[in-house]
Amino acid sequence: MTKADGPSVAIGIGERYRDVVSDRWPAIVVPQHDELLSSWVHRLAYANGVAPRSFARVLGLSPRMWSASLDLRLPADIARLLHAHTGLSLRKLSVMPMTSSPLRPLLLPLRSDGHRGSSTWLQFCPRCLADDAQPYFRRRWRFATQVSCLIHGCGLRDRCPSCASRIAPFDQVELVPQHFCAGCGFDLRRAPNTVVRAPARRLDRCINDICRLEAITGSLTRGNLVQRLLDIPAAAGIYPTSNLISLSTAARIRCMERLAEQPVGWLTIDDDVVVAYRRRLILSAGGHAPLIALIVTKLERRGQRHLPTKRVANTDACT
Ligand SMILES: [Zn+2]
Ligand SMILES: [Zn+2]
Repeated sequence: MTKADGPSVAIGIGERYRDVVSDRWPAIVVPQHDELLSSWVHRLAYANGVAPRSFARVLGLSPRMWSASLDLRLPADIARLLHAHTGLSLRKLSVMPMTSSPLRPLLLPLRSDGHRGSSTWLQFCPRCLADDAQPYFRRRWRFATQVSCLIHGCGLRDRCPSCASRIAPFDQVELVPQHFCAGCGFDLRRAPNTVVRAPARRLDRCINDICRLEAITGSLTRGNLVQRLLDIPAAAGIYPTSNLISLSTAARIRCMERLAEQPVGWLTIDDDVVVAYRRRLILSAGGHAPLIALIVTKLERRGQRHLPTKRVANTDACT
């Protein structure tokens, strides 16, 4: 080594040393649009060579539905750990859980009672997963009101079509991507299409847009929308003693198809005449995002509502 080589060699060693002592995990995974926190963590675990079930121990958590629980509440110490090892900002991490969503009562429950007719915690669209470069689970698939894919028009699924078990990537012990069933290894991208009749898809889309609008304007917390939606099984006249979040996706699709044949009075009656009017407007238009954008713009111009940044961010992420 010549004297002139010295500084460059010293710098090279320094770079490698920083790599060795860095807190960062080797593989960095960027969260996708509308991605569940749990889905991102599963992809992070896989990219770094750890099966999800073992990754629970890396975070100091017990294995039972560990990542699904993080979707509802991300403890500060876990957030700091993820920040230190991935570089993802604490601010970004803080908005990924669905803790403060005004639509939280409509989330499918975290449970596993083994009954085919009961809800599971997560749904998926096989075609969305197939389209993804790195398949991931969407936040909107956690909501009981969502029964069809807004992009592909097919019905969502809440179980593996091969072994009928719920979607449980947190239980995965093999080092495989999360779109392979943890129970039997079936590739969920190959699940057959579920047909949902067009009127039910339209109603599904309208309900989704009404929820977005009322979350943005703040009327969701004052009005009766959430309870109306939880009572959909009774309104449909199929499962009079059940509430929406307790039913499987197939049962909720049946409810939507039945309701789509009926007058929309069950949804448009509200103490607030403006709220009721907006719901009728969206239902008659078939529900679409541009209409909502127009209404929100008008509201802002009239100064009727102050729109907190945090609430808008949560709403965008939940729909
Ligand atoms: Zn889809
Ligand atoms: Zn399976």
